[in-house]
Amino acid sequence: MPESKKLVIILLGPPGSGKGTQAELLSEKLDSYHLETSEIIEKNLAKAKKNDFVTANNKKYFLSKEKRLRESGVLMSPPLITFWTKNKIRELAKEENGIVTSGSPRTLYEGKELIPLLKKLYGAKNIKVILIKLSGKDSILRNSHRRSCELMRHPVLYTKETTKLKKCPLDGSKLVVRRDDNAEIIKIRLKEYKERTFPLIGLFRKQGLKVKEIEGKQSVEGVFKDILKVILR
Ligand SMILES: [Zn+2]
Repeated sequence: MPESKKLVIILLGPPGSGKGTQAELLSEKLDSYHLETSEIIEKNLAKAKKNDFVTANNKKYFLSKEKRLRESGVLMSPPLITFWTKNKIRELAKEENGIVTSGSPRTLYEGKELIPLLKKLYGAKNIKVILIKLSGKDSILRNSHRRSCELMRHPVLYTKETTKLKKCPLDGSKLVVRRDDNAEIIKIRLKEYKERTFPLIGLFRKQGLKVKEIEGKQSVEGVFKDILKVILR
């Protein structure tokens, strides 16, 4: 297969850095596919029956057990996520789609598995890694105030610009605090990010990929403009 001209943009950042929102904006701007681990997981878990399992790396992963891990804020087993994600990436490359990801890969294991595949299908020079920086304190603050709309669950990031917002800018429905975002789970997610996701930066560099850092403590628009500067240069 000839090397693709399409870009793969990998967004990394702690919970609350707004990487999901940025990925959404970027995929629209670049006409690329927004690859979301959570969507892949939810689609696969939704159709799972009681005793279903997936065999990956010669090991069985029971989906009901994985579901419980996810509900407690812990990352699900990387081999299972990787298996599902690789399938999706191959499908996207075949259809010649550009990719924007937020939250994938999330662990060193996933990175070691996914980066070689992405390099093979898209070429190293077309892979852009962007780290949206945010302190632990700001991550917790933003997450504990994170809201989404009642109608479509559009997420609204907690920034200076959105504190007074009462209704969804897209559909006008009421904004509510996300029920799953309690303090303990937020802390677990942040710890998981620091211990398991952040070390990916070193791996990317070792794999010959450039990592650009963007300041996350600014408006959604500000972060977006900074990202565009980096990738459209
Ligand atoms: Zn909405």
